[in-house]
Amino acid sequence: MKPLKILHMYADILDLYGDSGNMEVLQYRCNMRQIPCECHYYHRGDPIPDFSAYDLIYLGGGADLEQRMLSADLLRCKNSLQKAYTEGVFFLMICGGYQLMGNFYRDADGNELPGLGLFDYYTIAPNSRKKRCIGNIVIQTTITGEPLDVVGFENHGGQTSGVSKPFGKVLFGNGNVFEGAEEGYCEKNVIATYLHGPLLSKNPKLADYILRSCLQHHTDQPVVLQPLDDALENACHDILCARLLKKEHSSHPIAKNDKM
Ligand code: GLN
Repeated sequence: MKPLKILHMYADILDLYGDSGNMEVLQYRCNMRQIPCECHYYHRGDPIPDFSAYDLIYLGGGADLEQRMLSADLLRCKNSLQKAYTEGVFFLMICGGYQLMGNFYRDADGNELPGLGLFDYYTIAPNSRKKRCIGNIVIQTTITGEPLDVVGFENHGGQTSGVSKPFGKVLFGNGNVFEGAEEGYCEKNVIATYLHGPLLSKNPKLADYILRSCLQHHTDQPVVLQPLDDALENACHDILCARLLKKEHSSHPIAKNDKM
């Protein structure tokens, strides 16, 4: 099989809260299964790549300054990215990356950055820099076909509206807007979310959903992934969700010494 190809965009600029770890997790989960996988990088000013030649395009999160630094460059890539999206390449975007794929992002000072307009939502930050959605977050998504709790950490001023298909409903935390009911944006080949974490180290089932989708696109066939031993990852996930949602979890052996 030809290697699965990941393109990590602006890895040197968009890497809040270990967002680059998401790509490490995907590569690790491929390696454990002997699935060949290559991660390439796109940096500001590089020649525009053929985005359609990839199975996954990834953008992490970044503060307003970083978003300003790369916005013009991202717009340069618009047509080629649009083509890749239409052809079914998987797009994973976190926070600042999520915002820039919508129509626009207006920061706390009123500066407006044009987005790629790949999706219809838009993001506006409140006038005060002190008003931010910060903290742990748990959402429930059904993107995998069954309810799946996804846990992460959010820190954004931007309030995202006009989302036609949210990634999940908020069980704890804020989501797209202050005290919101919905979080992120998704489609068959798109996950855009405010969840840092890194997202995929805390949510192995979601990581495998993304891998499966990418492999399906790559091979044009249904894919069954060999299970990995995720006992520790799942225990961490379950304990975090239980703690935040105040469910009983103290019977779990890993939680015995957990002073929560
Ligand atoms: N600068 C954006 C905001 O504050 C995104 C921040 C982020 O990526 N965490 O809304």
